[in-house]
Formats: sequence, structure tokens, C-alpha cells
Amino acid sequence: MSKKHSMLILSGDGIGPEVMVEVKKVIAWFSTNTGLEFDISEDHVGGRAYDDYGVPLSEDALAKAKLVDAVMFGAVGGSKWDGVDYDKRPEAGLLTLRKELNLFANLRPAMCFEPLVDASSLKPELVSGLDIMIVRELTGGVYFGEPRGITNLGNGQRRGVNTQVYETYEIHRIAHVAFELAKKRNGLVTSSEKSNVMESGLLWREELEVIAKDYPNVRLEHMLADNCGMQLVRAPKQFDVIVTDNLFGDMLSDVAAMLTGSLGMLPSASLGEVGMGALYEPVHGSAPDIAGKGIANPIATILSFAMALRYTYDEPSAADLVEGAINEVLANNYRTADIDQSGMKLVSTSEMGNHIVDALDKLSN
Ligand code: NAD
Repeated sequence: MSKKHSMLILSGDGIGPEVMVEVKKVIAWFSTNTGLEFDISEDHVGGRAYDDYGVPLSEDALAKAKLVDAVMFGAVGGSKWDGVDYDKRPEAGLLTLRKELNLFANLRPAMCFEPLVDASSLKPELVSGLDIMIVRELTGGVYFGEPRGITNLGNGQRRGVNTQVYETYEIHRIAHVAFELAKKRNGLVTSSEKSNVMESGLLWREELEVIAKDYPNVRLEHMLADNCGMQLVRAPKQFDVIVTDNLFGDMLSDVAAMLTGSLGMLPSASLGEVGMGALYEPVHGSAPDIAGKGIANPIATILSFAMALRYTYDEPSAADLVEGAINEVLANNYRTADIDQSGMKLVSTSEMGNHIVDALDKLSN
């Protein structure tokens, strides 16, 4: 008997619903053509939820998010809600989900599809075949540490304070995520911190060594975060999995993202404790400038679904198939406007989704 995977779809605002329609086509293809079936519920999030319920994430939607195996998230935000109180802004819906599901591990792959090798700002030979994974700690570090704030020193001077703080358990759990990933990939974890100038970095380095003992087949190397930024643009293919804290991860994942071209191609996953919560979303926002025009690139969101297949539903061959179908469509020169180049065939959001479904048909036969 086939197993039904549960999923909550929160499409959100702007291009969120437009790109999610294309994910639903891919899900429908799996239901029709394979034993893979999904038990799907849907709700509003962000500005749309604020308009309907007065809050960016209803109690009901949060309860559903806690029950399902994974949440597929589109994007939230838009100028319509600029005047709304901070705690009811569309973005607050996403922050609540991250907090309530305790999503401490942010996975951002930087993968170069061969047909897009020329779209990178780096030389093709540096990015051809690139496949790295950045694992960023998401719920601790300097963005949350106490004390924090701005104080008036009374002499015409002010002091701004943020505190970088990590405890052993936070480092151990993110380290396990990185080593588990590396085990299934190329067996290398690069841990990045500033242990030369920060005690929290030294603790990070030492605790990574502790967890490394559980993974004898994975090599651990350490790299100072400034050097890691430099190496990412000098020779990115030297990396497999990079694990780093919240602040450095924020920066390094954006650097890595640009190795592969457009925002419309970048998926992400945010994971909690195993089996306790997972959220998959494109890196891009609601793109109000192109919303409603039918030109958004749905690939980032479809790749996010492929990540859900791989990391939550444990269906790696289905994930490979989705990624293969996207590669096939790109190799056939179909492009949405954001990744268009001369000589290519320009397609709409919906046409791109249709081509990906056709490629699924072709590759599975
Ligand atoms: P954005 O990512 O929405 O857009 C940046 C640029 O990239 C725009 O020119 C947009 O047209 C383009 N772009 C983005 N996704 C694309 C796609 N799939 N296909 C083609 N082009 C694409 O960032 P922004 O403009 O800074 O923010 C717009 C709104 O989105 C804001 O309200 C912001 O707060 C929100 N936002 C939400 C999230 C999220 O939901 N996780 C993330 C970032 C920004």
C-alpha cells in the first residue's frame, strides 16, 4: 500500500501563489504516475492571512503546521501591509513558524545547473558541476543573544550591544545535521567560525570536533569565516557541506547563492529536530514588481519541493527525478525572464511548470 505524505501548503502573497500552482502540478504528476501520494492541506499566511483573519498566521494554520510532515511555503509581504504593526506584518507569520516549529537548521544548497553555467558571475569552469550545501544555525547566536540594545551613555555617546552566544547543545544539534548530510554526499564538513578572535567560535570549533567522532567516514575541516567567504568565490568546488553560525551563515549563504545566478533558482529548507518540523521555501520574496504578470520563475519553489522529497519524505529518487526534469527543461533552452539569455525560448510561469511536468514524463519512461 502506498504511503501518504502529509503537507501544509502556505502560498502567501505576491508571486507565492503563482509559483505554488506549478509545485502542485508536480505533486499531481507524482500522485498520478507513481505510488507517491500526498495528503495536502492549505491555508493563508502573510498579508493574505492578515486580510482574512487579522493576523499573519492563524492559530489554526499553526496547529496544522505542527501536525504535518512538512510545510511548503511560498513568500510573504508587499507594500499593502507596510503600515501594519510590526507583530502583524506578513513577515511575522514566517518568523512565528520558525520559532514555533523550532527550525534551527537552515539548509541552502548552491547547485549549478549545467545549462546555466554562463549565468554565474564567476568563470564557467569554477562553477560547472558545483554542488555545495550551506548549513546555517538559525535560532541562536548574535541575532538572539542577550544583552542587546542601544543605551544612551549620557555624554553625547550611545552604545549598541549584541551578544554572540552559543551553548553546547545548539552546536551539537546543528553539527549532527551537517554530518548526516555529508554522510550522504561527499563526506566533507567544513566548519566556519572566527575562533581566532571569538570565544564562541572556539567553543564552536571544539564541539564540532566532539561530534566528528560519531562520524568516522566524514572528514571535518575548519576554516575561518573570512577565509571561507574568500574561498567561496575563489574555488567553490572545494566544499561539500559548510556548517556555520547564524550571522556567518547569513552572509556566506548569500555569497554562495550568487555563484549560481538568479534568485528564482534558489531553494531552501529549515529543519527542526528529526521528525519534529520542516519548512521548505524559495529564497526569494513575494516579488511585488512582477506579481500577477505570469513571468515569475517557479523553479526555486519546485526545487524546494525536491528538498522536501529528499530530507523529509526520504524519497531521494523522486528528488533526483525533479532535479533531472529541471535540468532537462533548461537544457532544452526554456527560460523564464529572470534567467533568459539570447537565443533561448522565453516562457511564462505556467509554461515552465508544464515543461517540467513533460520532462518528468519523459525521464520516467
Ligand atoms: P524579492 O525576492 O521579492 O525580489 C527581488 C527581485 O528579484 C525582484 O526584482 C523580483 O522581481 C525578483 N525575483 C524574485 N523572485 C523571483 C522569481 N521567482 N522569478 C523571477 N524574478 C524574481 O525581494 P524584495 O523585492 O526585497 O522583497 C519583496 C517583498 O518580499 C517584501 O515585502 C519583502 O519583505 C518580502 N520578502 C519575503 C521573503 C519571504 O517570504 N521569505 C523573503 C524576502 C523578502
